[in-house]
Amino acid sequence: MNRSRSDKLFLEARKVIPGGVNSPVRACKSVGCDPLFINRANGASVYDVDDNRYTDYVCSWGPMIMGHAHPNIITAIKGVADQGTSFGAPTRAEVQLAEKVVQAVPSIEKVRFVNSGTEATMSAIRLARGFTGRDTVVKFDGCYHGHADSFLVKAGSGVVTLGIPGSPGVPDDIVKNTVSIPYNNFEILEKTLNDPKLDIACVIIEPVAGNMGCIPPQEGFLETLRELTTEKGIVLIFDEVITGFRLAYGGAQEYLNIMPDLTCLGKIIGGGLPVGAYGGKTEIMDQIAPDGPVYQAGTLSGNPLAMAAGIAALEILEVPGFYDELNTKSAECLNRLKKCAEETGIAATFNGIGSLMTCFFTDQEVVDFDSAMKADTDRYATHYQNMLAKGIYLAPSQFEVAFMSSAHSPEDLEYLEKMTEWSFKKIVEK
Ligand SMILES: *Cc1c(COP(=O)(O)O)cnc(C)c1O
Repeated sequence: MNRSRSDKLFLEARKVIPGGVNSPVRACKSVGCDPLFINRANGASVYDVDDNRYTDYVCSWGPMIMGHAHPNIITAIKGVADQGTSFGAPTRAEVQLAEKVVQAVPSIEKVRFVNSGTEATMSAIRLARGFTGRDTVVKFDGCYHGHADSFLVKAGSGVVTLGIPGSPGVPDDIVKNTVSIPYNNFEILEKTLNDPKLDIACVIIEPVAGNMGCIPPQEGFLETLRELTTEKGIVLIFDEVITGFRLAYGGAQEYLNIMPDLTCLGKIIGGGLPVGAYGGKTEIMDQIAPDGPVYQAGTLSGNPLAMAAGIAALEILEVPGFYDELNTKSAECLNRLKKCAEETGIAATFNGIGSLMTCFFTDQEVVDFDSAMKADTDRYATHYQNMLAKGIYLAPSQFEVAFMSSAHSPEDLEYLEKMTEWSFKKIVEK
């Protein structure tokens, strides 16, 4: 496979962009490769600048649940672009998308649009603190909530991929207000929320963890969390930046039937354009300026192109049967991949829910950050390189999920299965 144009662009990029990338995991360091530069994409395929084709299981880290360059989304963007790209004033499209979000996500009564998932989570904790008059934020080890200072404590995604505990540049004074506890650990959860010394404003959680690989909540964990937070008047925030419009049209809260107080959205909600959102109960949302005192603003928030893409995306997803079909297809694929592991005898644990899945290279159960860390990242790197050479584009990290889209065909999945078995065999024989 010729990668000469990608290699050349990476050399040029590194001169003018830190690490040559605008988001660290893209540099592919943990899988021992240089990144491919992508030129175009369509359906389940991405094409690099050397015109190699790959079946894409990254899906832009989640947004492309309907496949790349969906004609409805492209038409919607083209249709509004002619009328101007930004006004910094209210538009009809913002109201339309907000109405759709309120209708879709069970616990959201009002919603504010921002430009990224990071903005959504940082605004949501500010709001929770303003609403409760308390300071402490409780999060879970290995969950990722974007790159705002308060969250860079035992964070997932790129932070774990690069093996760094937090980040320089984040003052101790800020992270002293963040408490991070293990995912799926009932005992520590109860102890923490019952600690009278902690002045807890909110608990923020990925209702299905997706940034230390896929780790679903254990039976009763979110229910316990909901009960305890209600009892203590703590704001419960679901970070549904991955799971929103992914597990079901109403997100993880619909899929698992548990209602948070605030929800953060991103990724899918913009149809591939930069959109984030946070929403929830009117009583809390009305604390935001200009109705309330909690400040949050954005020059490009509610951008007309982004709103048009978001509306078009949700119109594709709200069609009855979309999620049944996608989740059934994904579950079948997961089963077949599990079989590949059994047949080759490789030490692998598959976690999956809806259209999210991760193959951890370990024979132990993966239920939290510590057990995820037992996975053999060298083996993942080899697997990644094997698959890439065969035209399959996986996430360049053991600690990210594989995303399935409605555009993946039975042939794509058959090929994935065949190549996975081949790669596992090669790894075991080595
Ligand atoms: C991706 C992600 C974010 C951050 O979103 P950005 O748009 O990258 O800022 C926040 N939370 C979760 C759960 C995510 O997966």
